[in-house]
Amino acid sequence: MKISHLGIKLSVAVLLGLILISYTVYWKAISTLSDHMTSLAKVSNHLTNGEIFHSSVHSMLMDIADYSSKIRYGEDSQRADAAILKLQTYLDHMAGGVAKKMVSEITARMAKEHIVFKDYTEQIIRRENSITDIKEVQQAQNLFNNIFIEYKKLHHHHNQMRNDLDTKTQSIRKSIRIILLIQIAIACIVGLLVIVYLDRMVLKVFDLTEKLALHDKLTGLYNRHGLGRIVSELENPRSGDRKAYGIALLDIDHFKRFNDNYGHPAGDQLLVCLADVLLKAVRAQDRVIRFGGEEILIILSRTDISGTRQVARKICDIVAGTAFDLKDGKEPKQVTVSIGYAAVSHDGGSFHDLTKIADERLYEAKNSGRNRSVGP
Ligand code: GH3
Ligand code: MG
Ligand code: MG
Repeated sequence: MKISHLGIKLSVAVLLGLILISYTVYWKAISTLSDHMTSLAKVSNHLTNGEIFHSSVHSMLMDIADYSSKIRYGEDSQRADAAILKLQTYLDHMAGGVAKKMVSEITARMAKEHIVFKDYTEQIIRRENSITDIKEVQQAQNLFNNIFIEYKKLHHHHNQMRNDLDTKTQSIRKSIRIILLIQIAIACIVGLLVIVYLDRMVLKVFDLTEKLALHDKLTGLYNRHGLGRIVSELENPRSGDRKAYGIALLDIDHFKRFNDNYGHPAGDQLLVCLADVLLKAVRAQDRVIRFGGEEILIILSRTDISGTRQVARKICDIVAGTAFDLKDGKEPKQVTVSIGYAAVSHDGGSFHDLTKIADERLYEAKNSGRNRSVGP
């Protein structure tokens, strides 16, 4: 099983990109929301000051109409002054643009009208005989109305601004909820990918471990453990019908002598080279197993006795005709092998019986001069 690294890298890159984009949008939404909240607070504050100003000026109007309230006039006037000052200060913190220009003009007109109203009402308040006649109240009322007209404009503008901000805030909240859902989805996908990746890694490690367990470390051929697996497949085939096959049991001639002459490492290297030669000599569906020290078993899939004979002879010839370059800087070496072979088509029986027969024939090959194959 192969893990597609490109696919994984691409998925990780796409997910990282999505996470980055969603966080940028999220961060922008949050900062806009915070700006809106600040603006909303300012607008509300301005509206409150506007209301204080309006109610203070209105109280001043009431104060001059009623002699007993004239003492309160001073307090109301002070409150109105403070409120208009705050309204003007607010303009310093307001962002520039059409809205600021408009609010600033309205506030300036309101402040101007307030001065006119205050001048007029103060004259009345300062008088000794302070009975206010109806015409004076009427005039003060008119001056108050001038302020009120401007105040209404300001109130209207601010209300509109507050509604605008409310709508925008609602839509940002909605976007934040959507982004949150997207992020949860991304987190789920990432989790899933990690699980799939780990799962594939575990399978790969498992495959690798199994391969190591079934193969011989020196030659890379199947080992005895691997043979067990092959035999159980041969004797209990998945398709149900037991397949005919042949086996060839091979032993290097005078290998002890080879070791004595050239050293054990050279013997090891010869086994590696021989394994390579054998693998090339058989078909992909055949199996080559290191059966013992220098004994090699070849299982020839779907092969009868005549096919097995052909392969056994061919291998004997190939090995005898090969000069094995052991890559030790010394001249290539030559060896021969003896083979005992058997096949289900001729000898029948179980795998165990077949190897026993092949072993007897191998012994015969050795006794009859080596470098040969012996069958039925
Ligand atoms: P014969 O022709 O009768 O087979 O003679 P032989 O010398 O090959 O005798 P035998 O098959 O009994 O010898 C087995 C020798 O194979 C013994 C041992 O030194 C050698 N051998 C077995 N396994 C290894 C191995 O992994 N590496 C090396 N270098 N030698 C091995
Ligand atoms: Mg031997
Ligand atoms: Mg031998």
